[in-house]
Order: sequence, then C-alpha cells, then structure tokens
Amino acid sequence: MINFNQEPDGWITVASPLHLALQRFRVARAILDCDLIISAAKMKTHCDTGVTLSVKNLLGAISPPDRQAAHRTDIHKAIVDVYSYFHKSKRVVSVVDALYALDGRRGPITGTPVKMDLMVSGSDPLAVDAACVAIMGGEARAIPHLALAQQHGLGRLNFAVEGKRLEDVQRNFQMPPLLPTCRSRLVSYALSHVFKKRSYLRFADKCNGCGACALNCPIGAVSLRNGRALIADEMCIGCLVCLESCRQGALDYRMHNDHVFPAARALYRSFDRI
Ligand code: SF4
Ligand code: SF4
Repeated sequence: MINFNQEPDGWITVASPLHLALQRFRVARAILDCDLIISAAKMKTHCDTGVTLSVKNLLGAISPPDRQAAHRTDIHKAIVDVYSYFHKSKRVVSVVDALYALDGRRGPITGTPVKMDLMVSGSDPLAVDAACVAIMGGEARAIPHLALAQQHGLGRLNFAVEGKRLEDVQRNFQMPPLLPTCRSRLVSYALSHVFKKRSYLRFADKCNGCGACALNCPIGAVSLRNGRALIADEMCIGCLVCLESCRQGALDYRMHNDHVFPAARALYRSFDRI
C-alpha cells in the first residue's frame, strides 16, 4: 500500500501513450516495481467528472502538482492519459467499495451516504466502473472519461455480473450535471462556456477559514477575507477542486444556463450519440 502524498522525492516522470491532455506526469517511484496495481476506490458521485470510481482513482497516483495541472486542462482527457499509462504498462484490477456509497451532485466530499452493502470487483477497471455507474442508475457512456477510455481501446464498457442481479441492487443516484463528450473541439469549447460551472460560498456559516480551497485552487482564484473563502469569479475556470477540498461542505456550484441544460443535452445526444 503506497501513500502517494507522502512520497519523499519518490516521483518519476512517465509519458502518456495517448497525449490527450497530459503528455508527461510524475508517478510514485514505487509503482515502477509493481506488476499488479489494485485500484481500490469508493463508489461516489463527483461534481466535475460525474463519478469517481476505479479509473479516476488512479489520478491519485500522480504527483500533486501534476494533479493540479490536470485540473487546468481537460480533466476527462487527463484521467484517460493517466489511465492509459497504467493500462499499457501494468496489470490493473479494480475493487470498488460500495458498502456505503456517496450520492449527490456535490460529491466526492459532500453528499448523502447510502448503505449499499456491495463490493464490486473485476479484471477490467472500465467494465467495473461501467457496472458501478449502472448500479448508481446512470449510463457509463454518459461519463466522459469512461466513454473516452473506451474510444481509445482501454477496455470495454460491457460487463457481465456475477454474485447479484443488477436489478436487485440498482439505485437512482442524483448525478451531477455533466457535459457530453464531443468529437468536435469547437462544440466542446462552446458547450463548456455555455454551461460553465462556477463555485461559490453557499453556506458562509460553515466556512471556518481553513484555507484548503485556496491552497488547492490550481489558478489561485480563492483567497481568505475576514476568515472566509472569497472566490474571484472572473478568474474561476470551474474545475471545482475547491469543492473537493472543503471538508465543511461550505461551497456549492452553479451552472450557467442550467434551466436549458437537460433539453440541450437530450438534443445533443440525439444527434451525436456518445
Ligand atoms: S475549504 Fe471550506 S471551510 Fe475551508 S476556507 Fe474553503 S470554504 Fe471555508
Ligand atoms: S475557485 Fe474553485 S472552481 Fe474556480 S478555479 Fe479555483 S478551484 Fe476551480
């Protein structure tokens, strides 16, 4: 078991076989000696990536500065870049702990715990994550990093379940609003601006001025004023790392034009199935 955040000078630079968003990044040196990687993840919703399961979990294996860089680029592509390194160079298996899962549009730190009494495992992390998304009541093809990973041949979203019947364990999680993956960069760019997410201090009374949001914001858009978080709206790129950093649940996010988002997403998907 490696604690990636406590690797003293133990990072080594590797290259993404795909170069979608991150060409190079540093992984814990100890990983080089491992033939088998077990991605042990919790089942949680995620405000920026829809879900966080065994594929996204591997983003935690890269150095903190590279994780910050990933959030400044296209996070979905960055996740696939990191996963492609593991997929190409290691054997990766997944174990997803869903004894208790996290539900809600503000995951992965703030949300509603749901008692599921499940463990989900398998030898193809993509298929394991697809099964988890189905259990959460969603569709894996609508999760950008999973759809992208399949497009690049890093596994399959098809799965066969042993142990329990899917219908018996499925729930209807409240999924965060997510932009679809687009083949066209221009359409992606336009959609990301029309439906941009912006974080804000929703529950000021919960903010204890710990500064974790300011420390982790990849572009320095958060400062502390009078012991509370202050977000510079004009700088914010909507990566929602600050939400992930806030253990007090003081932050929330708004999506531009959210009243037309469901209709726009349905329209988009009827033209360009992902
Ligand atoms: S992380 Fe949360 S509690 Fe800490 S300063 Fe930011 S908003 Fe306040
Ligand atoms: S304020 Fe929050 S959402 Fe905006 S750039 Fe910083 S971390 Fe990302």
